[in-house]
Amino acid sequence: RIAYVNGQYVPHGQAMVHVEDRGYQFSDGVYEVMAIYKGRPVDAEGHWMRLERSLAELEIDAPMSRAALDFIARQVVFRNRITNGTVYVQVTRGVAPRNHLFPPDGTPPALVMTARAGLGPRPEVAERGVSVVSQPDIRWGRRDIKSVSLLPNVLAKEKAHELGGFEALLVDANGLVSECSSANAWIVSAAGALVTRPLGQDILPGITRHRLRDLAVERGYPVEERSFTLDEAKTAREVFLTSTSSFCMPVVRVDDAVIGDGRPGPLAKALRACYIEYLDSLSGP
Ligand code: PMP
Repeated sequence: RIAYVNGQYVPHGQAMVHVEDRGYQFSDGVYEVMAIYKGRPVDAEGHWMRLERSLAELEIDAPMSRAALDFIARQVVFRNRITNGTVYVQVTRGVAPRNHLFPPDGTPPALVMTARAGLGPRPEVAERGVSVVSQPDIRWGRRDIKSVSLLPNVLAKEKAHELGGFEALLVDANGLVSECSSANAWIVSAAGALVTRPLGQDILPGITRHRLRDLAVERGYPVEERSFTLDEAKTAREVFLTSTSSFCMPVVRVDDAVIGDGRPGPLAKALRACYIEYLDSLSGP
């Protein structure tokens, strides 16, 4: 395997950053995970836009132009011969003697990219549907920034996993569902609308959330962007998640509550099929 580290393509086993990289010491950095489907990046423009926005919000300089980032990402995919997989892109505020203050002007941001084969869980997982376990959302107030500071997400997902869940369903201090540790959350209301939390500083603006919303609207499904409670999720007709690697994943259990008849719901299945059809449409000539 080959990784890109600050200007060089290196064997994955030798891909190193300095101990005083601010990502390592302060989680002072941002990242993206992009899907590669049939050899092509999925929604690259959305990912680059979100990366640029995360950087701007934290006043980290962009390491290079979007076109240059895109070129390197494709190189990493090519050099690792990835057909279906993911590319990881991380930018930190660079290397400087440890100090909470930003490093001197001109300190270059650090850029790392890796690629990995394999996209998402096995197909049986989506066919059966997954369980989620609610966890308190103890993250900071800027969840819209895709920061590498993921400790609350890590702890929540680990806890959910210990309790037999595929994901943690994060619930904010007001009892409203924010999202999952690494996916956006959706329900189908009693009236049959697709409901997901509106964008704002409380959730990550998922690229898959955005794409699925557009596909649903195009096909005439009613979409409501509003918050919903944990209880609403437990009694919803359907629940599902969206993310780069799990696409649209049906949820059949929220804590002890079985959703619907305990099998993936018709809308979640239809939307998953729409999303896969969309992915297939990208891999044309
Ligand atoms: N929310 C969080 C907290 C995430 O980490 C992710 C995955 N990056 C998502 C939502 C889904 O975003 P995307 O569809 O862009 O993968």
